[in-house]
Amino acid sequence: MEELLRGLGIGELILKTEDKKKALDIFADSIKDCKKCRLHTGRKQVVFGTGNPYARVMFVGEAPGMEEDIKGYPFVGKAGRLLTDILKELGKDRERDVYIANVIKCRPPNNRDPMPDEIKACVPYLDFQVKIISPKVILCVGRFSMYYILNRFDQPKISEVRGKMHISRYGIPAFATYHPAAALRNPSLTDLIREDIKRVFEFAEGS
Ligand code: SF4
Repeated sequence: MEELLRGLGIGELILKTEDKKKALDIFADSIKDCKKCRLHTGRKQVVFGTGNPYARVMFVGEAPGMEEDIKGYPFVGKAGRLLTDILKELGKDRERDVYIANVIKCRPPNNRDPMPDEIKACVPYLDFQVKIISPKVILCVGRFSMYYILNRFDQPKISEVRGKMHISRYGIPAFATYHPAAALRNPSLTDLIREDIKRVFEFAEGS
């Protein structure tokens, strides 16, 4: 990814800038017409990320859904509103206290699971976002984020990995929680997601 951006003369610009917001804006602009995988055919737009580039906490979800595809921001559909509400209950603001991105930047048709080749094509973008933001801790939101970020090719259940700190593929501490879409189907998971998010912020704040 960095090699590709360097070839375009963009990577140097991004890596040299100390303004993370500006770096992310340049980066987002450079991939807005990406056609590296089949998902470009059905998307309305690339959903890059949102929030505070200087936040200590980064959430990484799976892929945009219908509302995210229309609005251009991650986690703004029904599941995203639940996530936003949980953050508010904890006294956190999604634009101020966290940066949010997805593993996959374009909406899979009918919100199907992303395919391995689509993930492979898109993750260099996430890797570079993480490099720019360099958060203190990452929260993997949902299975596909957890598989990739924690290098869990054995594909465990979220219940097997949540509740404890892991070292991510980036060398940055990471936790995992259920996707809020799962909590819409099974409301008892909402309390567990809240618990996990609280734990992540406590870790980030050093308590
Ligand atoms: S999902 Fe990622 S790799 Fe595929 S077209 Fe969209 S931005 Fe490009």
